[in-house]
Amino acid sequence: MLRAAPFLAAALLALPAAGTPPAKQAAGHAKKAPCDLVVVAGAALPMDAAFTVRGATAVAIRGGEIVALGDPATIDAAYLPKQRIARPGGVLLPGFVNTHTHAAMNLLRGLSNDQPLMDWLQKFIFPAEAKNVSPEFVRAGTDLACLEMIRGGTTTFADMYYYESDVASSVEKAGLRGVLGETWIDFPVPGHANLAETKVVTRAFLEKWKGHPRITAAIAPHAPYTCSRETLQAARALADEYGAPLLTHVSETRDEQKQIFEKYGKSSTAWLDEIGFLGPRLLVAHGVWLTPDDLKLLVERHVSLSHNPESNMKLGSGIAPVVAAREAGVVVALGTDGVAGSNNDLDMFDAMDFAGKLAKVSALDPTPLPAPELLRMATIDGAKALGLDRLVGSLEPGKRADLIVVELENTHVQPVFDLPSTIVYASRGGDVSLSVVDGKILWDGKSVLTLDEAKVLAAAKEWRGKILKSLEKSGEKK
Ligand SMILES: [Zn+2]
Repeated sequence: MLRAAPFLAAALLALPAAGTPPAKQAAGHAKKAPCDLVVVAGAALPMDAAFTVRGATAVAIRGGEIVALGDPATIDAAYLPKQRIARPGGVLLPGFVNTHTHAAMNLLRGLSNDQPLMDWLQKFIFPAEAKNVSPEFVRAGTDLACLEMIRGGTTTFADMYYYESDVASSVEKAGLRGVLGETWIDFPVPGHANLAETKVVTRAFLEKWKGHPRITAAIAPHAPYTCSRETLQAARALADEYGAPLLTHVSETRDEQKQIFEKYGKSSTAWLDEIGFLGPRLLVAHGVWLTPDDLKLLVERHVSLSHNPESNMKLGSGIAPVVAAREAGVVVALGTDGVAGSNNDLDMFDAMDFAGKLAKVSALDPTPLPAPELLRMATIDGAKALGLDRLVGSLEPGKRADLIVVELENTHVQPVFDLPSTIVYASRGGDVSLSVVDGKILWDGKSVLTLDEAKVLAAAKEWRGKILKSLEKSGEKK
């Protein structure tokens, strides 16, 4: 059902208060279908294909699946939930999909800033990682990232790091959904020293998490400038053997473009195609320097693109041709990148806001990427890019219940005239008052129910001391 500006009608906000016991609902329970959870909100953007903007909406959830979505009265008449949560001043949305980050790097948040990518990586990040990254580091960093994502409305994310099986353990405990890629790179890294070891570690990782309902094990060769033909082809072969997703960085900087052109006589994308690396289940991050020919190749090979506007701006990498990519038919999703200096947070509201404004200022035209398109990129297109759109990315019966509520009763939000624009340009991560993944409540607006926040923060502070000490010893950090 389509309603214009539904949230303006006071009547729609007159819903029962949070926590109204199901027992007080109308008689006739016998006819009602049991379910686990009903979430009611003052408005909804289900992100269906028609981009429906709904008034007061309820979602019924059973076994982690959305079984019905409709008017609260209709849902209340049909379902008897074990728990009913009402957010009359909020809008219900599918959870955000962050298609590119390095969660464990949350422990390195802001370690080095205002540097070009290659200096930042080689002088600060790679040395800091070599000295500190361990399974314990990865778990503590991922816990911190999961806390931030859960509170900020991200329900699915794609990750590239080391000890990815430990990342997966942390994500499993936190309750989020993840496509988690073990990083392959042509120098010794924590956990594996060469290609042979990398393959063994990754195969064990793929085997361990096979069939998990929320965790998809993936393979993440770092980039064409850090991985040889042999490494990339081996990654593609293993991904094909397991039907696993592939994640990588492509055409991030002009330096990379120059380096690859000098080495191979063509663009990163053309070279990756030549060696048979491009293909289904591949998501490339950044794509700042993609050419029109590269975009054609991505479409032909069914490759998706993760746009990371804040990282590209902060590292001075450039402006990705996002509008052209979408026009060419590439699925373009949004990501934050890691927080060690290229963002420095995991806020998907910021990602939408920056993506929109960057597209507009670069075109000297305010019309590209309007708010509904930015919302699509942050939800359903993110799910498509990760091959998860049959499960998540929109609120529709039959899909898994990954949803959030964003409060509208805030001074930086009111009054609301156009709901999509409000969410994209005015709302913030701190406005999220409910996060549900696979039907399970992870954040109820007061606390994260799956993680001990105080413990996670204390561990992060403890790691800060260790990291500083490790860098002082060899003089990397001034
Ligand atoms: Zn990255």
